[in-house]
Amino acid sequence: MKTRVRAKVVGRVQGVGFRPTVYRYAMQFGLCGFVCNGPHGVTLEVEGDDGKVGAFFDCLTHEPPQQAVIADIQTEVLGTKGYRNFEVIESEQQGQATVHISPDLATCDDCLKDILGAKNRRCGYAFTNCTNCGPRFTIIRDVPYDRDKTSMAQFSMCERCEREYHNPLDRRFHAQPNACQHCGPRLQLRVADGTASDDADLAKTKELLRRGRIVAIKGIGGYHLACDAMSAESVARLRRRKHRPHKPFAVMFRNIAAVKQLCEVNEAEEAELLSAARPIVLLTRKLAGRRLAGGISPDTNTIGALLPYTPLHHLLLRDFDTLVMTSGNLTDEPIISDEVELPTLLGPIAEAALTHNRPIVHKCDDSVLRVVNGQRQFSRRARGYVPNPIRIAASGTPQLLAVGGELKNTFCLVRDGNAFLSQHIGDLKDYKTYDYFSSEIESWKQLMRIEPQVIAYDLHPGYLSTRFATLAPIPHKIGVQHHHAHIASVMAEHNLHDPVIGVALDGTGYGTDDTIWGGEFMVADRHDFERVAHFKQYRLPGSDKGVEEPWRMAVSVLTAEGLDEAATRKFPALKWGLVQRMIKTGFNSPLTSSAGRLFDAVAAILGLCDVTSYEAQAAIRLESIADPRVTDRYPFAVQTGNRPWMLDFGPTIRAILDQRRQGVAVGEISAKFHNTMAASVLHTCRFLRGQHDLNVVALSGGVFQNELLLRRTVEALQSRHFRVFTNTAVPLNDGGLALGQAVVAAERTKRTCV
Ligand code: ZN
Ligand code: ZN
Ligand code: FE
Repeated sequence: MKTRVRAKVVGRVQGVGFRPTVYRYAMQFGLCGFVCNGPHGVTLEVEGDDGKVGAFFDCLTHEPPQQAVIADIQTEVLGTKGYRNFEVIESEQQGQATVHISPDLATCDDCLKDILGAKNRRCGYAFTNCTNCGPRFTIIRDVPYDRDKTSMAQFSMCERCEREYHNPLDRRFHAQPNACQHCGPRLQLRVADGTASDDADLAKTKELLRRGRIVAIKGIGGYHLACDAMSAESVARLRRRKHRPHKPFAVMFRNIAAVKQLCEVNEAEEAELLSAARPIVLLTRKLAGRRLAGGISPDTNTIGALLPYTPLHHLLLRDFDTLVMTSGNLTDEPIISDEVELPTLLGPIAEAALTHNRPIVHKCDDSVLRVVNGQRQFSRRARGYVPNPIRIAASGTPQLLAVGGELKNTFCLVRDGNAFLSQHIGDLKDYKTYDYFSSEIESWKQLMRIEPQVIAYDLHPGYLSTRFATLAPIPHKIGVQHHHAHIASVMAEHNLHDPVIGVALDGTGYGTDDTIWGGEFMVADRHDFERVAHFKQYRLPGSDKGVEEPWRMAVSVLTAEGLDEAATRKFPALKWGLVQRMIKTGFNSPLTSSAGRLFDAVAAILGLCDVTSYEAQAAIRLESIADPRVTDRYPFAVQTGNRPWMLDFGPTIRAILDQRRQGVAVGEISAKFHNTMAASVLHTCRFLRGQHDLNVVALSGGVFQNELLLRRTVEALQSRHFRVFTNTAVPLNDGGLALGQAVVAAERTKRTCV
């Protein structure tokens, strides 16, 4: 019996070789019909023998192309039409756009063979790609994903490329960025003195790097600043010029073997390093790792490692085991992605720039993650993952926009139960970043065909994202408390709907009582929360200044605990009195229950960090010196007289000072402090379990980026049979806030509509 079946396939089905695969299967089973792209995804019809049509769909669903994600296939059986052949036809332009745009994909093994193969026509060509690899999100202006809607539109294919592009059996069939050295983008080396050259650029670039020079290199989502990672002198110069004295630099390694020589790599970490997303993975440095310049990560024994992900990287790294590859930007500014902005890097920081003429449509930084307890933990989610959706509801959500926080900003658009979290945008206080934030929101709305009816924002009145929401011409506005958003992001990721115990240990977040929160225990669902316990409040002398200068927080904690005499000598004597007056009068010194600030205070009391040069530096130093063999802890108190309860670490601070006086090693003190924090979380959760009959704990907030703290807390809770969840799909710092805001807003809108 003959039959004709029409299918609509949705999901990540464009730019991943879907149509060629459909074509191949149709040929294999001798079927006729067609396949085409549309704004929703892929439409196809197959006509032929009943059994063969069935076998065709079997293959398609069980063995789709490598990089495809089929979210749904809707089929419809129709009367036969008498097709004579199978064709790939022009894209449909009409209809609701729901196709999922693919993230950028690292160079595949076949393309790597092409660029390294001496006889291949693409030998040495830095822009080689195919349907399994290459740039996607960063070159897309609009959907459906066709070449004329990408930044490849300006390059017309030569005859040979054109042949590949139109041959359904070729790996480059409808590979939109397809190109070769005759017709595609080209490299250009520019030197700071103004000269540019067009040939042998790669060889000259390598020569400059070998001589210790800093070179700006244009990549997929922006420029990197590169230099020899073994040269202490080059690394120091890069730090000086970038005004970045301590924050770690990422290192690109030639291959996985080179990584293993210098870093500890377990199976899960290796899989992350080699994945098509090619993130920066934080790894523990081996003793042999000291061959890398010490200046690469002076505060920690970890290295942010990544592997080459473009042909250009592969060609460069053939001659180097390692290169520093840090974002090409100035502190807090967005990554630089075009030639107009290049003078910011070329000259002031880099001696040369290796650029190319394929425009970058969306800036996109490298993603950064680590593996904790076998689970992925993002500190930055961007290239390679964006714009993959995160499912937050079955469907029926209104179209909405959540604008995120202020630092590490990301925003989030929601449609049909799918949340599309933006790439890392950065610190909105910088004007250029704010500009980038607003223009990306516009361009994402267009790309995702989302016209938000609802806008969600943080309660902090001073956040620029909040101001953006206030001014936005969207009628329905929903403010979401910072830590509720953190906890809701965990609930969304793990499909939790019933109330949970939420523990948010964080830097700063605006509370519903107008003070700054950050050591929070809540009973929460997706709709609302009750603050049931929090860390004791201390003054934050100088607000932002108090965040940048941990010694101020130390003075605040010591003064409040009546311990100031005990530690006076260790701090800047002149300002000590001034800060004490601020604390006593409350002048520019808001109250805060922040866990992050408590870590700052302890780090400063131990003499580890008085003034920071990047966010969370004090806590990072405190964690990195902790002796993991130490298992005991300090005392703390929980005051349960009033709701919310208060966790009091006054006794902890007192014990730390005592031990310090006795000459106990700081590594031991630090470990005991971490253990105290974990124990206090367990203690409070057990109380809450008794009162609320809840056994599920959601952990979030930037302080849990501290791996030792997270491990100890999870271990403690699990040993008492709690079910523990934390963020694995989005950052647990403020980079994940927008997802939580979106979830709460979706839930609240749903309830008001019923
Ligand atoms: Zn490829
Ligand atoms: Zn060509
Ligand atoms: Fe936060």
